[in-house]
Amino acid sequence: HAERLTGLGTTIFAEMSALAVATGSINLGQGFPDRDGPDSLLADAIAAIRAGANQYPPARGVPALRQAIVDHQKRFYDLSYDPDTQVLVTTGATEAIAAALLAFVEPGDEVIALEPYYDSYAAGIAFAGGRRVPVTLRAPSYRLDLDELRAAVTPRTKVLLINSPHNPTGMVLNDEELRGIRDVALEHDLVVITDEVYEHLVYDGTHRPLASYDGMADRTVSISSAGKTFAVTGWKIGWVTGSPSVVTAVTTAKQFLTFTSGAPFQPAVANALALGNDYYDALRADLQSRRDLLADGLADLGFEVHRPAGTYFITTDIRPLGHTDGIEFCRMLPQRAGVVAIPHQVFYDNPEPGRPLVRWAFCKQPEVLTEALLRLRQM
Ligand code: PMP
Ligand code: GLN
Repeated sequence: HAERLTGLGTTIFAEMSALAVATGSINLGQGFPDRDGPDSLLADAIAAIRAGANQYPPARGVPALRQAIVDHQKRFYDLSYDPDTQVLVTTGATEAIAAALLAFVEPGDEVIALEPYYDSYAAGIAFAGGRRVPVTLRAPSYRLDLDELRAAVTPRTKVLLINSPHNPTGMVLNDEELRGIRDVALEHDLVVITDEVYEHLVYDGTHRPLASYDGMADRTVSISSAGKTFAVTGWKIGWVTGSPSVVTAVTTAKQFLTFTSGAPFQPAVANALALGNDYYDALRADLQSRRDLLADGLADLGFEVHRPAGTYFITTDIRPLGHTDGIEFCRMLPQRAGVVAIPHQVFYDNPEPGRPLVRWAFCKQPEVLTEALLRLRQM
């Protein structure tokens, strides 16, 4: 196979979910909810299929969804976009990330990414022929060190790839960090790709889109998706917003990756984005109580818990329990306890800071989390 596949192997999520099935374990590895999204959303997709929304939709997405994305950006962030020129619907955020990297990275260009980073970033950068340059977020707070970010910039840097709320740490970038990112981007004329798929899953603090910062409108590729916000991770409906030239560039790449995306899911997601604040508030409150249930339980078991401000994930340090290596720990866990978790190490270029860290997904029913804690207690 081609050199660009070297080191990519099988994703940790596929490996660990297969292990969960094979061992009958509770899967707190891959981040997907164990209950589907709102009934109205599911019914709308079925109705769309029956109504004939089964052929290629428009390349940039169906008009109703593009308008709903614009309305959502206005409602939550007071950002204004034109639905015809500044919005692109993609096959999940994953395609948006890959298409954005293909659109802006030349072979040999450097892409700075926050480490630990979501695993598709490494693949997307490799496919574009770019070089990955990590800036490490360190336990237990995982704050971004702006001096380290500045030091990572070279004349070859083209893109900053950021992610907030951040997978796997659950950190949410604060105003000072976002202003720092903006300053670096302006100073060095960089494009910033910002992955905000967990935008509605923030329990402490607030999510601020980078695109809302002065000077960023023309150089930011903002990415989100329906998977987490509406608990339909298998639907793979994502989107990009940005300036007309940014969105045109990403569209040019996207049209030859998949051309279009999920026709019957698009009108359903359009309606869901317009759900009232009660939906968004309940989603957050529900997940926050699960975060607390699992975080408190893991702390009781003796783990050092790094309680996340956002996302689906809690990180723990396993050293207080006498373990040192997260990969060994996660390989042993299904047999010993019937629980699956994800080692941080796989999200790093320099794995040392991630070695004792393990990620646990809490987007599960409370009784499932309680059962997982019971199993861990008997380990
Ligand atoms: N970015 C991050 C940070 C994620 O955690 C995920 C995954 N679930 C994605 C992107 C992919 O999103 P999608 O399923 O919409 O492709
Ligand atoms: N984003 C999810 C996670 O981090 C799953 C993604 C995937 O399976 N590719 O667990």
